[in-house]
Amino acid sequence: MATVEELKLRIRELENELIKSKQKQSDAEHHLRPKIDQMSAEVVDSNPYSRLMALKRMGIVQDYEKIRSYAVAVVGVGGVGSVTAEMLTRCGIGKLLLFDYDKVELANMNRLFFQPHQAGLSKVEAAEHTLRNINPDVAFETHNYNITTMDNFTHFMNRISHGGLEEGKPVDMVLSCVDNFEARMAINTACNELGQIWMESGVSENAVSGHIQLIIPGETACFACAPPLVVAANIDEKTLKRDGVCAASLPTTMGVVAGLLVQNVLKYLLGFGTVSYYLGYNAMQDFFPSMAMKANPQCDDRHCRQQQDEYKKKEVEQPKQEVVQDEEEVVHEDNEWGIELVSEVSEAELQDASGPVPDLPEGITVAYTIPEKLVSEVSEAELQDASGPVPDLPEGITVAYTIPEKVRPTEL
Ligand SMILES: [Zn+2]
Repeated sequence: MATVEELKLRIRELENELIKSKQKQSDAEHHLRPKIDQMSAEVVDSNPYSRLMALKRMGIVQDYEKIRSYAVAVVGVGGVGSVTAEMLTRCGIGKLLLFDYDKVELANMNRLFFQPHQAGLSKVEAAEHTLRNINPDVAFETHNYNITTMDNFTHFMNRISHGGLEEGKPVDMVLSCVDNFEARMAINTACNELGQIWMESGVSENAVSGHIQLIIPGETACFACAPPLVVAANIDEKTLKRDGVCAASLPTTMGVVAGLLVQNVLKYLLGFGTVSYYLGYNAMQDFFPSMAMKANPQCDDRHCRQQQDEYKKKEVEQPKQEVVQDEEEVVHEDNEWGIELVSEVSEAELQDASGPVPDLPEGITVAYTIPEKLVSEVSEAELQDASGPVPDLPEGITVAYTIPEKVRPTEL
């Protein structure tokens, strides 16, 4: 058995080790890599941008360096917002503005990004610290407040319209990663008034569905024109929340939604691929509904209606271009919001793609339902059709799936 003296000695040894390890950690934290003036495509292990710049060589993005000229505001640095901010930081965005009033809690550890030792710190402070270490080339601006109170809202509007990469200029994109209706409406109000393009994101309270939505004031439906996914119809959200009952969340769904959101931001800012107006994610069926919604002329937000008028004027002033394609048929014109839904699917297909409406608390409706058909299994014959020849592979290697002949392009 060890004597008290021996134990005291052991404690001292361990304390010294702890101090040393803390010093090492703090050294590492202050050893930020030097800033990089110019993004380079040079393929060396020390270049943090080589894999991103390779997107140019691959013909995906024309001018990747442009990412450094953009400022993006992320409102809500929780399960979706923190991952969104990390992705943009790693991609080398010019400037990030982070807004959140919450603190990191151990109850957040089922999600990505934050770590247990950060519990108690403000989310924006903890996030900035981590992100600066990952990429010191990004400029950060953090605001530890609730944007929905009157004073903070005014300040929020001011930073959106003046906090761009060059002070005085507006930011290039606002991302809503908040978890409540009130904050979404605040962002919506601000962006409608400023004519600021933004993207909305959300994850359902049962953790198995989510969505992203691009909102161009005056052109596409704003959040007040058509609240997506869940509609809290003039009911105080606090009355919907009961004591001891909290929303469920999964790191997977939140990671997927953050990924879809940032992918859409990159496509929008860097000009590649097709930018989605609305993209849903239903994790239960792996169903990704997408659509575009026009602004509602009867929207409650007067700034939205004003932006619509201005957009119409601009449209008229623009020189008429020969329309090659026929205008898409507008379906569901007579819904309760007066929204025109342009869809690629026919009425019958739409009906097939809908399922039973689940039981929900008062004031909440669903934006889409899960079609019964998707639940059915694929037949053997269909499976065979969906497979192709197995390629020649070295011994011990097999393929997870093959490409059916039907979908192979004739020329590669
Ligand atoms: Zn609107």
